[in-house]
Amino acid sequence: MSVKQLIEAPLVVVTNREPYIDESSDHGTQTVQRAGGVVSALDPLMQEIGGQWIAWGSGSADIETSPGGKRQVPPENPRYTLHRIILNQEEVQGYYAKYSNQGLWPLSHMLIERAQFSRRAWQIYRNVNQKFARRASSVSPQGAWIFSHDYQLSLLPAFVRKSRPDVAIAHFWHIPWPPHTIFRLCPQHAEILRGLLGADVLGFQSDMDVDNFINTVERALKVSVDRDNKTIAWQDRVVHVKSFPISVDFHAIEELVQNPRISSWVRGIRRHVERRDQILGISVDRADYTKGLLPRLDAIKEFYALYPQYREKVTYVQVVVPSRTEVAEYRVLYDRIAKKIQEVNKQFQSATWIPLITLRHSIDRPRLMGLFRAADFAVVSSLVDGMNLVSKEFVAAQVDKRGVLLLSETAGAAHELENEAFPINPLDPEGFANTLHEALSISADERSLRIARMREHLQNHTIYEWMADIFVTLKAAAQSYV
Ligand code: UDP
Repeated sequence: MSVKQLIEAPLVVVTNREPYIDESSDHGTQTVQRAGGVVSALDPLMQEIGGQWIAWGSGSADIETSPGGKRQVPPENPRYTLHRIILNQEEVQGYYAKYSNQGLWPLSHMLIERAQFSRRAWQIYRNVNQKFARRASSVSPQGAWIFSHDYQLSLLPAFVRKSRPDVAIAHFWHIPWPPHTIFRLCPQHAEILRGLLGADVLGFQSDMDVDNFINTVERALKVSVDRDNKTIAWQDRVVHVKSFPISVDFHAIEELVQNPRISSWVRGIRRHVERRDQILGISVDRADYTKGLLPRLDAIKEFYALYPQYREKVTYVQVVVPSRTEVAEYRVLYDRIAKKIQEVNKQFQSATWIPLITLRHSIDRPRLMGLFRAADFAVVSSLVDGMNLVSKEFVAAQVDKRGVLLLSETAGAAHELENEAFPINPLDPEGFANTLHEALSISADERSLRIARMREHLQNHTIYEWMADIFVTLKAAAQSYV
């Protein structure tokens, strides 16, 4: 059954980021489509079934292109309504940069020392959540299904529930949920839990996150929980807490990397690599401290020191995309990463070779997937990561089955791929170097077998199964009240 057929009520999606942004430039207004995992999966669905999508209108031309806060999208062939929440500078700072990204983001990733909370930012975060909720409540048809997302909007479910008891709400938390001892450090943790418990279904990336969430609720709110059924009786309802590991559009990636243009680009890369008898490696990360870029660079140093036979031999492409540049800490980190890359290169480079080829900008999807197809290995070494879609995209793009994946044991994707990927501890540089050597030493048959197994798993667990699973759970939850 297709996802569309599972949806039995009008759908309302609520995300922080919008699927279409209008930007003004010297050449007039331009609509840019966002290419993130969830957006690119939900947009086609919304185009098929129609509905409402509420998001922060962050584009410079968003106000003028959405009279009354509404814009029919896609602009060239309108299929659904995008409701833009316009935020002023103070709101962007308090809600987005501070409370969400300097508070909840590091705390949820268990990087306690980086977490900063302030009551002023909390008030703004709360008000903005209320703004989103008011819009969701006012545009939702009777009995609608609301599918809301992530740590920026944790209070929305309860706000909507209060004014619209008729709707069913699924809220998906994309990042890790930490143990109670850590989450309690958030000064407003109880309010956040109460906000989330307004949902009928609360989705997390892994069973570990689910267990952590249930424990947190039990201890912080002193309510009884049902660990076997993963439910929480809250007010006069039952909240279903479940893991739904997010995934990629496997078949679309497979198709993309096999189209004639990308195939010929990949062949060109391979010719170049093979002519020079090189091994091609790739890492792709936002410049975020959770991605473990600095420890990874230490590990790469260790690798070339312990295994000099790989010098001149490995072409390692590191894509580092600037991220959250409105937060000072991220700008500092970006500079530190750039410096460290220079340091590694300086230490090992020769007249004909540099250890790290760095691309410091975002790469368009077809080329990125093409690079994944062409690579002999990929390294994902996040310190903590809700899922990590890059690792799954690498596997999906590997249609020639030549590549090996080195995957952090602490990324959500490790729960599914740990048997075939080479596990790394991001904080163990020598172990990391040994594992990279081991991964590069296995036979072509073993590489092909490992990647084939991971591909089989992902083929059966795509982003569409993720959505379907959430909607099936929401439907069952909603029916239990009729
Ligand atoms: N990505 C991209 N272009 C780039 C770098 C990354 O489109 O130049 C995409 C990548 O393909 C993936 C997403 O950004 O879909 C990153 O998701 P992930 O879960 O790995 O990490 P996040 O950035 O969400 O923490």
